[in-house]
Amino acid sequence: MSQTSSTAPSSNDDTVSAPRFLASDNTSGICPEALEYLHRANEVDDLAYGNDRWTAEASDAFRDLFETDCEVFFVFNGTAANSLVLASLCQSYHSVICHQLAHIETDECGGPEFFSNGSKLLTVPGDGGRVPPEGIETTVTKRGDIHYPRPRVVSLTQATEVGTVYDLEQLRAIREVADRYDLRVHMDGARFANACASLDVSPAELTWRAGVDVLCFSGTKNGLAFGEAVIFFDKRLAEDFEYRCKQAGQLASKMRYLAAPWLGLLETGAWLSNAQHANAMARRLADGVTDLPGVNLMFDAQANSVFLELSAATQNALRARQWTFYTFIGEGGVRFVCSWNTSAELIDSLIDDIRQAVAVA
Ligand SMILES: *Cc1c(COP(=O)(O)O)cnc(C)c1O
Repeated sequence: MSQTSSTAPSSNDDTVSAPRFLASDNTSGICPEALEYLHRANEVDDLAYGNDRWTAEASDAFRDLFETDCEVFFVFNGTAANSLVLASLCQSYHSVICHQLAHIETDECGGPEFFSNGSKLLTVPGDGGRVPPEGIETTVTKRGDIHYPRPRVVSLTQATEVGTVYDLEQLRAIREVADRYDLRVHMDGARFANACASLDVSPAELTWRAGVDVLCFSGTKNGLAFGEAVIFFDKRLAEDFEYRCKQAGQLASKMRYLAAPWLGLLETGAWLSNAQHANAMARRLADGVTDLPGVNLMFDAQANSVFLELSAATQNALRARQWTFYTFIGEGGVRFVCSWNTSAELIDSLIDDIRQAVAVA
């Protein structure tokens, strides 16, 4: 896999002059495979609004990847993908069951409610950022009268907001409850590739074969400049979806520039190798700090995020050494996210800096 080197000054070096980015997987640039296909798409002109050869080929590549005749749409970002999908699955009086830490609940500025004209999100708690089947059942059966917004969808984030994954058994258990109550299953796949890499299962196994009806598959966090693919496994649910995209300002007139980089990820296999690399870097970090005193790994680092409990003094020491990270995501703690171009040297210098910071704290 091609790697661009991130600057990773050694921790003995007192003057760290540039920020070191592990705040999210969207701090990384465009991976070479995506860029290469973007250039190729720029060699000749083509039709607009998705009637071009790149969009057709990328859509077919998704059908190959998922081993089924799915409906594929390309939008600019994850908020739009999630919001428009939920809007298309719900009437305004319906509700969506999701984890209380779900991005659709905490980070989309009410987008799902806005685009669905008021469908309500009903949140449930659950260990490791996962929606438990019992939580779905309790939420659905709590009320059956017309005064309660009728549950229609279960939304799952894969990998979860805290860097864990739903395995096949957990997904099947959720599908079973969903079938009992006639619920659709939506998957927010902001880190879907990382989940496939983590579990070493095929995209088909992890979606429609496990009962997922619609997937929002993020390209941005996997190595594109921007772009998410919305994949409907049940084609009937995709009816009129293109109108929603257009109305919401999500129909790219030069759609080939969204689609071609996706084709680059899919044809070269970079979608998976990028995720495997990111996961390996997260594991390296988690393994490197678990034995340090005063450092607590908050969740099993199954994908590309690592959540650490660190003292305020340690956090300040890391900030002083120009490490960038967020502390407001999930259940708090310090989140580091690895991506396609996170280098082992960068991770090792972070481990060194954490070791030094906790030693003096
Ligand atoms: C990043 C992310 C999204 C998409 O966010 P946008 O900024 O709208 O592209 C969706 N869900 C999760 C869990 C995310 O981490």
